[in-house]
This record gives sequence, C-alpha cells and structure tokens, in this order.
Amino acid sequence: KADVLYLRSLLGEHADFPKPGIVFLDIFPIFRSPFALETLFTHLMHHITTVTLPANKINKIDVVVGLDARGFLLGPPLALRLHAAFVPVRKQGKLPGEVVKASYEKEYGTDIFEMQSHSIAPGQSVIVIDDLIATGGSAKAAGELVALQGSSVLEYLFIVGLPFLKGADKLDAPAYWMVEGD
Ligand code: IMP
Repeated sequence: KADVLYLRSLLGEHADFPKPGIVFLDIFPIFRSPFALETLFTHLMHHITTVTLPANKINKIDVVVGLDARGFLLGPPLALRLHAAFVPVRKQGKLPGEVVKASYEKEYGTDIFEMQSHSIAPGQSVIVIDDLIATGGSAKAAGELVALQGSSVLEYLFIVGLPFLKGADKLDAPAYWMVEGD
C-alpha cells in the first residue's frame, strides 16, 4: 500500500551500528516529517480499528504499553488517539515505587525490564508498541510484565518487523508490523 511504501522509503539504514555487522534501521526520519508522522499514526489507528478491535470483539483499547525507549515516542500519541492509558516499560532501576520485573535475552547476557505495579488492572485490554521487533525478546518480556499485572496482551505492534528472526513466534498474542526489514 502507498502509505507503507512511503514510510519504508523514509527509514534510515545504518551499516555497522551500534556494532560491526548490524544494519540499524532508523525511524527518526519519519519523525522529522509531520506528514509522515501523521501517516504513521493514521495507519496504526486504521489497523487497530479494522483488525485488532473486531478480532477481539471489543470496542476500546484501555492501555497502550510502550517499550524503552522508542516505544515512549510512539505510545503516548497513539494512546491519546485511542483515549487509552499509556504505561511505560523501562530498563531496570529507572521507575520509582513498587515494580514488577521480567528478564530478557540480549546479545550478551540478560537484561531486566520493569513496570510500575498496579499500572494495569486485571481484564483491561492492552496493546504493546515498539519501533522494531528483532528476536522478540524484549516484546516477550513486556508481555510477561502485563501478565504479572493480571492482564494479557491483545496484540504487539511495531513499525518494522524482521520476519527472518522469527521473533513473533515467541509472543503470546499476534504481532503486527507495518514495514518488513531484511
Ligand atoms: P528484540 O528484543 O531482539 O526483538 O530487539 C528489539 C529491540 O531492539 C527494540 O527495542 C528495538 O528498538 C531494538 N532494535 C534492535 N534492532 C534495531 C534496529 O535495527 N533499529 C532500531 N531498533 C532496533
């Protein structure tokens, strides 16, 4: 579709970042264009209203969960449009008060994600958003945090997916990405 091709054309590709052998896909050129950013959120809203809500037989998303750090830029504008709450998932040690924790695999060793306790009520309808899914480890940990609050994720949303890494296979709910990287 034209909107997807347009957004794909704006993605930056950076060889050997953050380390040799990795091609880093950069969503910030989209943020530098007001029209592209509007196109991005319109696409996500269209997907949620025509696919996510009917598939789950609900008429409202209650909570948008955004992953550290680029999910913090995508989540709140989407939550505003959905009249939903926004809840951040942060790397360990950044959130005050009582937190729930989940570990996830990084290239070297494990890392820990946290969410403030009682930030999602049991039974609320929840979606998770991040810029990109690679191995799916961080999205899976976000799903575990939602489960620790007595709820579950309806769908994981991304701007970019890397299907050859099969990250979506790790997740407990469908994954959707607008653009495929290779
Ligand atoms: P995963 O946990 O292996 O799925 O990695 C996804 C996480 O790493 C997300 O939070 C992404 O923001 C980040 N990430 C991995 N590769 C890229 C990339 O090429 N561009 C932007 N973010 C990336």
